[in-house]
Formats: sequence, C-alpha cells, structure tokens
Amino acid sequence: MTASSQTLGTRPYVAELLQALIRHDTTNPPGNERECAVYCRDVLNRAGIAADLLGDDPNRVNVVSRLPGRGNAPPLLLYGHIDVVPTAAQPWEVPPFEGRLQEGYIWGRGALDMKGGVAMMMDAFMRAHLEGTDLPGDVILALVTDEEAGGHTGAEWLVDARPGLFEDARYAVGEFGGFSKTYRGRKFYMVQVAEKQGCRVQAIARGPGGHGSLVHHSTAPTRMAEFLVKLDRMALPYHIHPVTRMMIEAMSSSLPMPDCAFLKLLLNPTFTGRMLRRMGTAGQEMEPLFRHTANATIINGGEKANVIPSEVVVNLDCRMLPGYDSEDLLGELQDIAGPDIEFQVVNFQPKPWLLNMGLFDTLASIIAEQDGEGVSVPMLMPAGTDGRHFARLGIQTYGWMPMNLPADFDFLKTIHAANERVPVSALEFGAEALHHLLQRFHE
Ligand SMILES: [Zn+2]
Repeated sequence: MTASSQTLGTRPYVAELLQALIRHDTTNPPGNERECAVYCRDVLNRAGIAADLLGDDPNRVNVVSRLPGRGNAPPLLLYGHIDVVPTAAQPWEVPPFEGRLQEGYIWGRGALDMKGGVAMMMDAFMRAHLEGTDLPGDVILALVTDEEAGGHTGAEWLVDARPGLFEDARYAVGEFGGFSKTYRGRKFYMVQVAEKQGCRVQAIARGPGGHGSLVHHSTAPTRMAEFLVKLDRMALPYHIHPVTRMMIEAMSSSLPMPDCAFLKLLLNPTFTGRMLRRMGTAGQEMEPLFRHTANATIINGGEKANVIPSEVVVNLDCRMLPGYDSEDLLGELQDIAGPDIEFQVVNFQPKPWLLNMGLFDTLASIIAEQDGEGVSVPMLMPAGTDGRHFARLGIQTYGWMPMNLPADFDFLKTIHAANERVPVSALEFGAEALHHLLQRFHE
C-alpha cells in the first residue's frame, strides 16, 4: 500500500510514509511546514486517530495527538521535528526531495534528521491504535516545526503556550540518538540523555588605530590574530562530565583488554588529551564531550583600507557542557587569551540540567532483544535539540530513533550533508523498537 492509497482504518508502510514526508520540502528557513503537518494529520485521521494542528503561525503548525493508556505510568511523549536543513550548494547524487528508494535505502533530505524518526514514531503510534495495544499510560505524539532554527514556532511555542498538553509526562523520546555505531568491532547504540548548552560570546581586541602607511605593532587585528591562534592550539580544559563518564564506562566494560583499559584512560584528565589524539577520528568525534568548545564564526573590524582599526570583534560559537555557567566559560577563555582580549556574553539561555535515567534500562533491553550484539550507551549530545524546551517542563528526553546501521555507514557525517539516506531495514528496526516501548514504558 502506498502512503497516498492508505485506506481508512489502516496505516501506510513506514518506508513509504518516509518517502511521502521527504517529498514535502520543509527546508528551514523558511520552514513552511504546514502542508507536511496537514499530511501527517490526515494520515493519522485515516488510521482512525484524532489530531490537532496547533501553532501561532498558520504556515508553521504543529501536529499533536494522544492515545489513552490504562494509567499505570505517566504519559510518554514522542516528539519529532518535520523541518529540515537546506540542501543548497551540496553535491547531491539524487534529487533531495524525491524520496527515492535505491539499493535498499530511502534517499533525501530528512531521511535521518529526522523525518525517518518521525515515520517510525507515527508508525508505532498508529500501530498501537490499530492493534488495540494495551498502553501502560497515555502516549502523546507531537510533530513540531522549526527545530533546526531554535524551535520558536515548534517545541518552544508548545511548551510556553500549551504546557497542559504535556502535564505529568516525565519521559520523552525524540532525537538525537538510537543509531548504532561500531567501535573496535563492538556495536553500540548511542542513547542521548543530555545535551550541551549553546552560548554566543564576543571577543574584543583593542589597540592603537592609525594610518596604514606607518609602522604599527600590537594593533587590534594582530592581538585578535594571536588570540585565535592560541585558541586553535590550546584546548579549553578537559572536564569529565557524569554523562560522558557513564558513556565511557558502558563502552569500555563491553570491550576486551587492552581496548577496555585504553578507553578508560580517557576518564583521567591527565591523559584525556593524549588519548583523544591517539584515537584518531573516533577521538575527534568524542572530544566535544570532554570540554566546552569555542569556534570563531564572524569577524568584524576595519572599515577603510588605509586605516588601522582600533577594535576587532570576533563572534565565538561556544558549546558548554551541561551544568556549567557562562562565567565558567569566560574564565577559561580569559586564561587562554590573557589580558589583551575582553569577552562579553551575547546570548546564553542556561538549559536546565536534568538527568533521569529511569527509562534507560527498558530501552537497552528492547535493543538487546532485537539485536543480540547491541550494547546501549548513554550519550551527551554536543549540539542542541528541542529537548531543552521540554526539559523546562521537567521532561527527560531520550534521543532514541533506533537504527541498526551497517558498520561502514557514518551516521554523523551523513546528517545535514549531501546524499542523506537511511536503510529501509533500519526504519523497520526502529518502528518495531518503538512499538515495544509503547507496550512496556512502565517497566
Ligand atoms: Zn534533527
């Protein structure tokens, strides 16, 4: 059955549902998710489930629906975003909004991030209704807009304007995690349980201005250049965050010697830097989990070709470990920069630091049943997701879009990139895992 030929009282095949979602171009900006949201609502309606379109911007509405449970567990929230990042100037081998099925993969923007996850969630949600699954508690489905640009019309709006929809929910399943990753021959399923906090900082260098024909030293541009080179060469200090510790301990305990001991050395700050470098690409991917990061993104200074500017300002995109304050970060930056550079916080909204691991064992046992080799590992996400909005309601998000991926498939490099694609078998795997979760989230 194709998604378009879905008859009343049935649900489309999860892979065809994803193809249909990809064909709605929801590139953000501008998003314009309405058509896609209406499509999702109609699919739910045809399966016999009521759903609402909610939002303060008619072009950017969210879909919210709820299935009643037997009240033995707090409501479980499933949420996913239906907007996608742009595809412009990327070398795609297939049209990004065609939803092509080729060699066992569905290709297209959003296949992984995260229309694939949305298709799995909708599938499990409709299946629970159609099969009359005995749900331990209510299940809420929220398909939201604008995640890729801050969630303003999506999760943020829902949390601010309609918090009652999520009353009593303690756990949510969303992005970013659940994918399998092969390391040293073992297969790990990364479950996001926390995320870093974004912080925009301005670095300001000042110095003598003057005419471009004379000799000058220690000008604002050279002072800023010195700082940026130092920032590149000297890492901000390492911190062993509790979630990173859980992740490394879970991974190392399932590896044989000497890999096990080798990995554990990461948890000793004296060796963290050296071990990360020795680990090559895997170390590069893990490094943001061990420290705050700061990257120069916008450089401003000088207006005239023959005048030395007396001020140069650089925008730093900083990502902080959960639980730290912007003052901690500024102190570390100042230590690297010395007195020549002044730092100012431009934008920082502290994220509530919440960690409730109550659902983790259930997720891990579902994975172990479906993939005997699979070891579930808690993960700290180096970037931000809508999880921060729902955390304001005290809801712990588990980034869990379970995907059993081939060992040579690089999930992280495929996200937001050209040729984004997902194996059909991984979609089926995830839909099945979510179905099991809906049967037993009270455990
Ligand atoms: Zn995403």
